[in-house]
Amino acid sequence: MVSVGHAVEAATLSDPKVLVVGAGPAGATLALELARRGLGVEILERKRFPRDKACGDCLNPGAVAELDRLGIADRLRTTLRPNRLRGWRVEAPDGRSFEASFSSTDVSLAAVEEGWAVRRRDFDAALLNAAVDAGVGVRFDMRVFDLLRSGERVVGVVARQGTRSLQIEGSLVVGADGLNSVVRRRLALAARLPRLRKIALVAHLACADGGEHFGELRVRRGRSCGFAPLPGGANVTLVIAEREARRVAGDPRRFFEEALASFPELRARVRSSALEDTVLVTGPFDRPVKRAWAAGALLVGDAAGYYDPFTGQGIYQALRSARLAAEAVVAALADPTSEGLAFRRYDRALRREFAPKRGLQRAIEAAISRPRLMSRLVAALARGEAAAARRLLRATGDIEHPASLLDPLFMGRLLVGMVGR
Ligand SMILES: Cc1cc2nc3c(=O)[nH]c(=O)nc-3n(C[C@H](O)[C@H](O)[C@H](O)COP(=O)(O)OP(=O)(O)OC[C@H]3O[C@@H](n4cnc5c(N)ncnc54)[C@H](O)[C@@H]3O)c2cc1C
Repeated sequence: MVSVGHAVEAATLSDPKVLVVGAGPAGATLALELARRGLGVEILERKRFPRDKACGDCLNPGAVAELDRLGIADRLRTTLRPNRLRGWRVEAPDGRSFEASFSSTDVSLAAVEEGWAVRRRDFDAALLNAAVDAGVGVRFDMRVFDLLRSGERVVGVVARQGTRSLQIEGSLVVGADGLNSVVRRRLALAARLPRLRKIALVAHLACADGGEHFGELRVRRGRSCGFAPLPGGANVTLVIAEREARRVAGDPRRFFEEALASFPELRARVRSSALEDTVLVTGPFDRPVKRAWAAGALLVGDAAGYYDPFTGQGIYQALRSARLAAEAVVAALADPTSEGLAFRRYDRALRREFAPKRGLQRAIEAAISRPRLMSRLVAALARGEAAAARRLLRATGDIEHPASLLDPLFMGRLLVGMVGR
């Protein structure tokens, strides 16, 4: 017996097997993988595409490698013409900086070791198109706000489209609905409230910076700022303490322009370019989950747990978790009695892969929130062998396992560098 406490009408979609809530990278990728295996899959998305998404607009090399594995990297490269991202320049509060590339050698940039800088509006739409071409159905303007249950089991969703509420049944429901996931909330799977009280403001510039190959990250006065050259423009992402949010609420664009005073060299660049009217605001981050599944439901991407945007690993996580989730969904649909086992395996695989990455992100957050520590670290990386900074970038670029940073020789050199001057 399906139960829901709202007056709704039943909707019959084209015999959906799997309902995916959210058409971002996680939802689109999972749907694509399932459709390729011949499964019926329908995405329910609250917005119309193309739509903007608050993001630094950078895919790290791990994310690009995932697209390669999916067999769509070349197609997306051709349609989107993303800027190739060689690496990052990081500047500490005292102005010292280091620049490092993702590549394991200085001379060549292997396809698998490039990042992409491309606007999310364009990337997400192109990825969704690939899913649609594989047979995925998409319903836009569908805001899911509740789950249908039969006893303990999730058997569908309740969505609002305009003024209508619809009950939509499915064999499985996947929450790919991002940072503020409704599916996660309805399943009570959030582990706790966010502790990292930061928010982000994302702005786009129209400028001719297109050809650059390094992103820039600056940390100053408790704020961090990222600059990514995009095709035909640039992304400027400002992350500030949530306590400053009250001042943002009135006029995000004005607040954004004022806050750039902490980054004079960027402010000059913004002034000389056309800043788009809309400044996107999002946060707080830090959304751990108790587990990423329930009977009849899975979580993927940000919905399955997110920490902090500083290292730019969220799109990789979305794509990789979607691949892992696809295996679990296929196993559960092939033999429903094995669903619990398949979902627990998925949950373990997520933790195995992402807990070490989260550990590294926490260590980096600890450094950037302490100006003197950050300055010493950056100075050590700047004057050390290029290999040290590169190793850090290859870990945050999801090319190498974070454990590679625990190499005693690497740590020793870094610590000596930090106390050295
Ligand atoms: C400021 C900032 C900067 C970042 N920079 C980077 C970066 O440079 N590189 C990187 O790799 N990662 C970055 N990230 C992280 C990255 O944006 C996310 O990890 C990634 O978008 C997660 O993809 P997703 O598909 O899980 O969720 P999303 O991309 O958020 O997609 C979720 C989709 O679900 C839809 N949706 C939400 N609720 C509902 C609902 N109730 N019903 C129906 N549909 C719904 C939304 O409209 C959206 O389309 C950044 C994040 C932030 C906040």
